[in-house]
Amino acid sequence: MLRQVSIRVASAVPRASSRIIVPSLPHTHLRSLHVSSVSAAQNVNDYRSNREKFPEDDLSTRLAPGQEPGVLDKASQSLLLTELVRGMWVVLESFFRPPYTLMYPFEKGALSPRFRGEHALRRYPSGEERCIACKLCEAICPAQAITIEAEPREDGSRRTTRYDIDMTKCIYCGFCQEACPVDAIVEGPNYEYATETHEELLYNKEKLLANGDKWEVELARNLEADHLYR
Ligand code: SF4
Ligand code: SF4
Repeated sequence: MLRQVSIRVASAVPRASSRIIVPSLPHTHLRSLHVSSVSAAQNVNDYRSNREKFPEDDLSTRLAPGQEPGVLDKASQSLLLTELVRGMWVVLESFFRPPYTLMYPFEKGALSPRFRGEHALRRYPSGEERCIACKLCEAICPAQAITIEAEPREDGSRRTTRYDIDMTKCIYCGFCQEACPVDAIVEGPNYEYATETHEELLYNKEKLLANGDKWEVELARNLEADHLYR
């Protein structure tokens, strides 16, 4: 609003910064007035085109780079204490708005179904391991954090005898989860597994299967929520 006022005034009263004086030509004052009004008209055109391009943007208080606020702008801001009022409005808004902070660990924020946290190996509802030891996850892991050994069982099915993940190498890229054809290895919603020693982050198959048993409800829900994008 203030900017609009200063532009309209500028078309009638030329500002010093936009005035071009050519002393050698006749009607110097009229000529400078003409240049000023052309410059002001250009400002108005720029303002209108920007207003159409960015209708949600508050251009009324924005100045072009290098442009100084007009005298009227400065005077009205000083007299009406607009900056003070705007600042108090922000304080008032914050006073009634729910706080952004959480009292962690008693309160926790929402997590996306795609959140990539601690790894887990899942089972079928029958209790059978999902992993078929295809080693796709081991092959695709860019950090070479996964180590798998496998051999056929007596019934001819192929299962892992060793499934290790070095969690200190893992970069949580999610490639292992994407590569797995049977949704066996997944990254779950758990992010609270900080340890005091390196060895505690060397996960073996038992640890990963235990994670899967513990988080199965959340893991299945997240996979279901994300199935359209997989
Ligand atoms: S999340 Fe990425 S780095 Fe971590 S084990 Fe899986 S593939 Fe490897
Ligand atoms: S976890 Fe999945 S990708 Fe990795 S070996 Fe088992 S079945 Fe294959």
